[in-house]
Amino acid sequence: MTPDIATLAPSAPAAPPTHPVPDAHGANLYADDTELQALLPLYLPADLCAHLQAPLQRLGALAGGVLDTLALSADKNPPTLEHRTRTGIDAQRIVKHPAYIELERVAFADYGLAAMSHRGGVLGWDQAMPAAAKYALSYLFVQAEFGLCCPLSMTDSLTRTLRKFGTPELVERHLPRLTTQVFDDLWQGSMFMTEQGAGSDVGATTTRAEPDGDAYRLHGDKWFCSNPDAGLSMVLARIDGAPAGLKGISLFLLPRVLPDGSANAYRILRLKDKLGTRSMASGEIRLEGARAWLVGEAGRGFNHMADMINNSRLSNGMRAAGLMRRAYGEALHVARHREAFARRLIDLPLMRRQLLKLLLPTEQARTMLFQTADALRRSDAGEPGAYALTRILTPLIKFRACRDARKVTGDAMEVRGGCGYIEEWSDPRLVRDAHLGSIWEGTSNIVALDVIRAIRREGALPVLENHLRGLMADTPLHPQARTIFGQSLGRALTLAAQVAEAHGRSDSAARQAATGLYHATTAIAMAWEAGRTNSARRMRIAQLVLQQRLMPQDPLAMADEPAWLAQLLEPPAQAPREAVDSIDLF
Ligand SMILES: Cc1cc2nc3c(=O)[nH]c(=O)nc-3n(C[C@H](O)[C@H](O)[C@H](O)COP(=O)(O)OP(=O)(O)OC[C@H]3O[C@@H](n4cnc5c(N)ncnc54)[C@H](O)[C@@H]3O)c2cc1C
Repeated sequence: MTPDIATLAPSAPAAPPTHPVPDAHGANLYADDTELQALLPLYLPADLCAHLQAPLQRLGALAGGVLDTLALSADKNPPTLEHRTRTGIDAQRIVKHPAYIELERVAFADYGLAAMSHRGGVLGWDQAMPAAAKYALSYLFVQAEFGLCCPLSMTDSLTRTLRKFGTPELVERHLPRLTTQVFDDLWQGSMFMTEQGAGSDVGATTTRAEPDGDAYRLHGDKWFCSNPDAGLSMVLARIDGAPAGLKGISLFLLPRVLPDGSANAYRILRLKDKLGTRSMASGEIRLEGARAWLVGEAGRGFNHMADMINNSRLSNGMRAAGLMRRAYGEALHVARHREAFARRLIDLPLMRRQLLKLLLPTEQARTMLFQTADALRRSDAGEPGAYALTRILTPLIKFRACRDARKVTGDAMEVRGGCGYIEEWSDPRLVRDAHLGSIWEGTSNIVALDVIRAIRREGALPVLENHLRGLMADTPLHPQARTIFGQSLGRALTLAAQVAEAHGRSDSAARQAATGLYHATTAIAMAWEAGRTNSARRMRIAQLVLQQRLMPQDPLAMADEPAWLAQLLEPPAQAPREAVDSIDLF
């Protein structure tokens, strides 16, 4: 692996530590994140965790330096669509900025982020890696570049869905292209579902699939298509004569180039002018009799696509977690190095309170990411109950972490003051990108309703409860804290059960119920992590989540700063050693 890209995009020199405008550029985002280093052994086998330390260190350095420079450049130079060659031949092409192509090369080729779940041999590891490994690396990458993480996730997710539901012949034909690390041979993935009249309401899909020998010909318009020039796309369409609604929808694999080398019959009509993810192309597609191959069973397309969507939703949660970590890291750096009124910002009590508000959701999302990734690993291994657990954790992280990322990135921008609003810094990009997470792959409402569906259809609530009570039993907790953890979990479960049992009559409470489950889950899992890593600091964060998110609050009660708060903002290693089960904030 040779991420020798520094020569192509030299990083700007970081400001000296004494400069009045602090700049974290050049930081190693892994080396600086000692909490991540402490957590990974809980979620990865020891040998793999040790093996990944070098790639994580390298990627952390790249993400804090050269990748960030490339991402800034790619964001300012969005892709364009060309329709003809200079000799007048009709041949559509998306022209990507060299900075974006370099980012693609690092993610797909050097680090194999889209391949590592599907085969051995990536980063010198002879087996496919568990989801937690992929997400640990991607969590660093996304802190530099968000837009590209969509094509990365779609390539990874398309490969997963194809392997699960495609015919052996279809898999054999395409797997090498999807998982190669030879950049010029790679075919990326995409998914074309959304139509003008069918976004959340996928059952309204009108794209037609006309049988044609061993394949089908697709006709119709797709309204939102990210990575529209991908080599392979998963497309939802209705086979001629199929019933209306979701039951009539099938899933198809659409290659950009047909087996005989000719271009498939679809066009990119135009590219979208987007608020965020400006580095990556999203377009509109017209299918004009394009040849596509059925994936899985006819009429079960939505069901099969749900597998791809869920994998993408987890990736979305990971991206939100990464955006928050970047935003928090930047804010912390500014607070430690910027001075006002002859004091460091971090020494001002009101600033510490502001930073704490960034820290809690950032840590919640990280814990939820690794909990969900581990549930997915166990589900794929066929462990009883793990499917239902994954099925509920996935929409929970997609819903809440993506919403939290909007606020955290916005509030972190304010910590930098006026510079935070200037496009030379990472903050505006993070804010713009963060807003997309809650919209694509299911809006907040749709994903919150999916949490309720997972409870109703998969019986996910008792599985989640078992999981969380198991974690609590495995955690050294102060007796009073244990009681409060148990009570809070009970209340969150009761609300979610009530909403699910109301069969649609209480849908207006779906977001409230999902939020409650998210807070209870992250607080308990974080307390478990605290016990496993012997971190009183993490235990305090876990208890703060309960206290501030699930327990009744008096908005007019005086909020004095506890003596230990400053410790939460210091590197964990500097926190005084305290027994985890001595912590009780209640
Ligand atoms: C930049 C970008 C890239 C995208 N890339 C892709 C892509 O690659 N492939 C793809 O297929 N799609 C893609 N999308 C589409 C995206 O997934 C959809 O926009 C999204 O699912 C919402 O669908 P819609 O736009 O039709 O909105 P609608 O479905 O019309 O929703 C409008 C509003 O109604 C609400 N709503 C809908 N149903 C309910 C309900 N039952 N209860 C309560 N509220 C409800 C929604 O929450 C939303 O707030 C992309 C979108 C964007 C912005």
